Amino acid sequence: MPITETLISTLAPFDCLVCQQEGELLCADCRASAIITKRPTCYRCNKLSAYGKTCANCRRHSALAGVLVASHYDGVIKELVHHIKYDYARAASSSAAALLTPLVDASQFDLITCVPAAPARLRQRGFNQAKLIAQSLAQSTRLPYADLLLRTKNVHQVGLTRAERLEQVQGIFVAHRPELIKGARVLIVDDVITTGATVAECAKMLQAAGAKSVWAVAVAKH
Ligand SMILES: [Zn+2]
Ligand SMILES: [Zn+2]
Repeated sequence: MPITETLISTLAPFDCLVCQQEGELLCADCRASAIITKRPTCYRCNKLSAYGKTCANCRRHSALAGVLVASHYDGVIKELVHHIKYDYARAASSSAAALLTPLVDASQFDLITCVPAAPARLRQRGFNQAKLIAQSLAQSTRLPYADLLLRTKNVHQVGLTRAERLEQVQGIFVAHRPELIKGARVLIVDDVITTGATVAECAKMLQAAGAKSVWAVAVAKH
């Protein structure tokens, strides 16, 4: 066993969710073989689209240039996302970031950020899972991480229709640190995307603050 692997398993003695091998919550072999890769589609209309680029028609209504998605919200991915929220946050978020790393061409971005958590959620959980994944992805891609958005109010989206979600998220984020945003190609990280309304609203605020382009990346899409 190479020395790096020995060190990792000493620091984080987790068993792989798929093959139970000791080391990471999702080992490199299972990342490559057990995860069903999602075919890239336009996040908004679900039509097939190279790299998950927003299609020309949807682009007229969205500030998001595209969304990179690793997998479907199912099976082991669902389990991994659950672990990020409820127990092995660090180990699970680094496994999640390892799934996202191959999707991200670091030369296409200047800055990584995340969808800010609702303050109530943050108080309850103590951390923002999207931020943990984003910081781990920043390390593996060697891109800088910065908090570029703030949330202004709490929103509960469970059970809402697409139209209701779109309406609810309007105005819930504000961009800060305009000196970093201006002219930057920004990548927003989220754990799971449903309609994409939340990341699209983030993209809108970043674009309004002068971002050159805004993409998102997520572990899974519902
Ligand atoms: Zn495994
Ligand atoms: Zn579309």
